[in-house]
Amino acid sequence: MSHAVARLRSARLARSAKPFLARGGPKGERCAACRLVPSHCMCAWRPKVPTRSGMCLLMADIEPLKPSNTGWLIADVVADTFAFGWARTDVDPALLALLSDPQWQPYVVFPAAFADAERLVHLVQHDSVKRPLFILLDGTWDEARKMFRKSPYLDRFPVLSLHPDQLSRYTLRRSQSEAHFCIAEVGAMCLDLAGEQQASQTLDAYLDVYTTRYVLAKQQRPVDVCDAAHTRLQALGLNSRT
Ligand SMILES: [Zn+2]
Repeated sequence: MSHAVARLRSARLARSAKPFLARGGPKGERCAACRLVPSHCMCAWRPKVPTRSGMCLLMADIEPLKPSNTGWLIADVVADTFAFGWARTDVDPALLALLSDPQWQPYVVFPAAFADAERLVHLVQHDSVKRPLFILLDGTWDEARKMFRKSPYLDRFPVLSLHPDQLSRYTLRRSQSEAHFCIAEVGAMCLDLAGEQQASQTLDAYLDVYTTRYVLAKQQRPVDVCDAAHTRLQALGLNSRT
């Protein structure tokens, strides 16, 4: 398997002078495809759902290396996911080419409070020619703000600001300590705004399965495939096949 975030992770690992130590199972091993310890591997649960939207992840330096990064889940679900490492002084020409590709209408997804009013939009235009490309700034909050301020090649695009009600719904559902899980939630909200409800709900349910397994693995407790998260994802999968 190889998607954009997996490739970015490999490239980042290859550049590392010292190994990045993520805690794993007894021998520190993790499934290369889903990043969970083998006993909690969820590769069999990876959904297949057609999407028209694309995702462009700009990732802070070590973000692709974190087993808790959920941009990985977006890449699992959305076929047209692109991922680039962000650096202030260095821009990947492939990113600039993507942003100039006429098949896409890029949107920078960021809170309204930080954007000029004339760039702000709250809805995704339905366009029969251009497909929406959601640019997600994936890192800590400080890193994301820096990316937003210091990426002049993004300045010409509208800023899609998610409605605070939607955001608070997600904040309420998860604890602050799990705030790092939120980039896939943001991706799911973007798909919803693009009118892709099946993909949106599938990504959200897939994130729930991942979160559940991640926490159970940490607690060294077994997976229950009949729990609410797995049942919901399975139901969505069955619906998409009918
Ligand atoms: Zn796996």
